Amino acid sequence: MTTDLKRTKLEMAEKPDGLEGPGFFAGKLEDLVGLARKNSIWPLPFATSCCGIEFMATMASHYDLGRFGSERLSFSPRQADLLMVMGTIAKKMGPVLKQVYIQMAEPRWVLSVGACASSGGIFDTYSVLQGIDRIIPVDVYVPGCPPRPEQILEGVMKVQELVAHESLRRRNSPEYKALLAKYGIE
Ligand code: SF4
Repeated sequence: MTTDLKRTKLEMAEKPDGLEGPGFFAGKLEDLVGLARKNSIWPLPFATSCCGIEFMATMASHYDLGRFGSERLSFSPRQADLLMVMGTIAKKMGPVLKQVYIQMAEPRWVLSVGACASSGGIFDTYSVLQGIDRIIPVDVYVPGCPPRPEQILEGVMKVQELVAHESLRRRNSPEYKALLAKYGIE
């Protein structure tokens, strides 16, 4: 089957501010790196329970996370830049999650999906971590039990906004180092 390109509506990524002329475009390096990073996020799904099922729907053809340039999931922390935590995190699992985060290279972002990952959810018990931000920094929280795939997509879009506008120097800033130090991460 051939695709009729003339009839296919292609959405182009919005270009950053810059100087434009015939055959050239000049912009700020920071903006261009942000544009590339934003549209090629490689997520690492850390799914432990029911919210993970919603993530499977988010990846499938109906919602299709691939439309956001994120269809390449990584199950290796070293080749991922967005940690998506979905599900109940038992306290015993906490050190494993932290280890995965530490193994990810900078720049890295964290999306906390659902009530359990964000706050322990309905499991206010001795064995469940009452929010992953007790052990790793979180960039965006997605509420709900479970959140619908549309909400997960919105969470990813919020992360994209952060990625697009993050300063290239942020990861070396004293504030960022202090944030990691707070979590005991070097
Ligand atoms: S937030 Fe609700 S749906 Fe998600 S893992 Fe917890 S109990 Fe399951």
